[in-house]
Amino acid sequence: GAGSGDMPQEIWDKVKNHPCYSEEAHHHYARMHVAVAPACNIQCNYCNRKYDCANESRPGVVSEKLSPEQAAKKVLAVASAIPQMTVLGIAGPGDPLANPGKTFKTFELISEAAPDIKLCLSTNGLALPDHVETIKKFNVDHVTITINMTDPDIGAEIYPWVFWKHKRVTGKEAAKILTDRQLQGLEMLTANGILCKVNSVMIPGVNDDHLVTVNREVKSRGAFLHNIMPLISSPEHGTVFGLNGQRGPSAQELKALQDSCEGEMNMMRHCRQCRADAVGLLGEDRSAEFTTDKIMEME
Ligand code: SF4
Ligand code: SF4
Repeated sequence: GAGSGDMPQEIWDKVKNHPCYSEEAHHHYARMHVAVAPACNIQCNYCNRKYDCANESRPGVVSEKLSPEQAAKKVLAVASAIPQMTVLGIAGPGDPLANPGKTFKTFELISEAAPDIKLCLSTNGLALPDHVETIKKFNVDHVTITINMTDPDIGAEIYPWVFWKHKRVTGKEAAKILTDRQLQGLEMLTANGILCKVNSVMIPGVNDDHLVTVNREVKSRGAFLHNIMPLISSPEHGTVFGLNGQRGPSAQELKALQDSCEGEMNMMRHCRQCRADAVGLLGEDRSAEFTTDKIMEME
């Protein structure tokens, strides 16, 4: 079909109605995110914790945090107001798998009340291998992992620390743990038939050349799509790199990198990075219509 690129048919059949995976579907199907996951278990240098997780969401945005019960109510209200609403994602404001109780409670409530809604989540991958069984149990069919490196020397420049086995680990050791867990989680998901997309943030002078290697590594482990996003670096987005003068890539640099990965696998170019509480079709953000106050009024 249009926009399928060289995706195998059985994968295309699963993703063609998903706005995050199909450029076509972007115009016809709606997705929403609910911000139920406040904590994070790593620190990315480009993250400002005042805002939503910068790995899957638009930087510099503060989403309305919800309890699983509030989130389920909101999803049902949106689904009855917007019939094209087919996908519910959890992407923050921290890491969904650093908040497994809240994330999976939300999935449980939604899968009971609205079993047709597809569930997805995004994660930095550190805790992923521990949760593959639960992800399967709730029939989550799409997982996004943000993988910015597979080389701990480069990782040490991106991640000041990870929280691992009840303590803070820093430097190369931290990056080594993170990359091992990310790749292990990716392999486990694809071995279980769960579709896996990889996001990478392109940071000029840090991981730009290296992302071609990352592309090869994730493809060989079964990721079906690779989405290379630019570091959005400006004080208004509050990125730590940005405050240190780290620039984001130009549009030409981003395109050149995507081109050099193309042929290796499907690249995703249509993503405009949603808010963690995004609601609606691409290009429209109806999140302001569905705040908790307004949902209470609808009842
Ligand atoms: Fe998904 Fe990106 Fe589209 Fe948002 S903008 S629906 S995250 S592909
Ligand atoms: Fe921030 Fe997301 Fe990185 Fe956690 S994983 S530090 S929330 S950008």
